[in-house]
Amino acid sequence: MIQNPILYPQRSTDEPAAEQIFNWARNAQLGTKQQLHTPKDEQALQALLAESTGPIRIVGSRLSPGRMVSPACEGILLDLKHFRGILAMDEQSVRVAAGTPLQELFKTLQQNGRMLKCSPGVIAVQTVGGALATGTHGQGLQQSAITDEVLSFTLILASGEKRTFQRGDAEFSAVMVNLGCLGIITEVTLATVPERYFTCHKTAVSADTLESDIIEWNQQHLFSKAWWFVDDDLLHVWNIDQASSEDLESYQQNDQQVVRHSTEHDESLNATIDQTLALMHADTQVHGHGGKQFRTVARFKDFTDVTGDIYQLLCRGIAVPQINVEIGVPLAETPAIIRHIKQWYAEQQPHMHYPIILRCTGASEAWLSPAYQQDTCYFGFVVYYADDGSLSQDGLHFLTEVEKILATYGGRPHWGKYYDPQHYDWAKLYPKWQDFAAVKQQLDPQQRFSNHYIHQLFSSTIGDHS
Ligand SMILES: Cc1cc2nc3c(=O)[nH]c(=O)nc-3n(C[C@H](O)[C@H](O)[C@H](O)COP(=O)(O)OP(=O)(O)OC[C@H]3O[C@@H](n4cnc5c(N)ncnc54)[C@H](O)[C@@H]3O)c2cc1C
Repeated sequence: MIQNPILYPQRSTDEPAAEQIFNWARNAQLGTKQQLHTPKDEQALQALLAESTGPIRIVGSRLSPGRMVSPACEGILLDLKHFRGILAMDEQSVRVAAGTPLQELFKTLQQNGRMLKCSPGVIAVQTVGGALATGTHGQGLQQSAITDEVLSFTLILASGEKRTFQRGDAEFSAVMVNLGCLGIITEVTLATVPERYFTCHKTAVSADTLESDIIEWNQQHLFSKAWWFVDDDLLHVWNIDQASSEDLESYQQNDQQVVRHSTEHDESLNATIDQTLALMHADTQVHGHGGKQFRTVARFKDFTDVTGDIYQLLCRGIAVPQINVEIGVPLAETPAIIRHIKQWYAEQQPHMHYPIILRCTGASEAWLSPAYQQDTCYFGFVVYYADDGSLSQDGLHFLTEVEKILATYGGRPHWGKYYDPQHYDWAKLYPKWQDFAAVKQQLDPQQRFSNHYIHQLFSSTIGDHS
């Protein structure tokens, strides 16, 4: 059984005291209101840097684990909520303030007939700065993380100096996924493309040939995503391609709202979904159908193909407090890993709280992206909090055991999710680890943007466990 309150903290169900600041999942206090600063503009930000000493952590929507975002108790929590909005747009790109929620960016792009070439993640409440800093990604081998669409970053360094990093600059690949420890991103320019429309073909298939299917789906379709219900040896699969002219016409006639293709729903997953829901109800001690977490699987019942734009189809997640773990492994290793997980599952019969989410991306240019220089398959795990703020120990056991397996295949964890640091030798996993550390030293010699978590990362060797 897992009882690790440091890695997987209990969630507070009490209303926070007025002076407390928590992360989004409310499983970590980040600091107090006295530590929170919300400068109105660049001058105010530079003045704050000049007048203050001590550590600074930048917060976005605070979705990441508390250890990542919290400064030390005397440090500054810097919220860029006033750095918000679209600053400029042309035929190829959009310039956006870093505190802007992704959903605002996506909406503006939609309204202007544009999109990012890359797929979004499942939710879009993250800020631009927060999403880029941790390598936030969607799926599809022909694209990678959102940060791979960035053309330039504007940063304010600890010295107050304003620096712009363009694609091609020596430090650019370090800034792309920066963990908030190089400086304050204030503006970002991203490449855009004309908006396209897609049809998502949904199926339920056996997991018997998943080892080869996962590669084929990803090679044959623009975007592919699968939920693996290990208990039932079944997958729910979304394969997404450009919409046919017929589908596109239906979509236009439907005022650009998502078109469901058939009134004949596919019910082949329904029994599996009911069983998963029963387990989730037992794990979370939430009864009745009210909890939003149940909608994240209940919506897979009675599925049909759909047509829409990239955000309508792929950015449909329901954000509910959770422990999420996502480990990227080299795509080439994925068939062997799937075989390994199947064998482990057959031997151990562990309890599955939520299906394993499989998303693959192409290689990233970001030095600290889990997909750096390699096509990558991400294995994602979720355990939802119970109403009393606790977590299913069996659910945690499942993800903890699979994380160990994935780590032995060169797995690299998502920085903005939960992981157990003792499995990772960062300098071995990331060929540019030392180069990143050198850029960090150069841009922030006094380490003002480092907290305990960042110090541990850059001084850690395998076996260290904070
Ligand atoms: C329900 C849920 C769904 C998710 N879905 C996905 C998904 O589909 N795909 C995926 O890849 N990830 C996903 N994530 C992870 C999420 O995208 C990351 O945690 C992301 O970093 C959160 O953005 P934020 O604005 O909340 O940043 P925060 O969590 O507030 O901050 C994250 C990091 O970014 C740094 N930072 C923030 N702003 C700046 C800035 N302006 N300059 C420099 N550094 C900055 C912070 O210091 C911190 O280190 C999900 C998380 C949750 C909880």
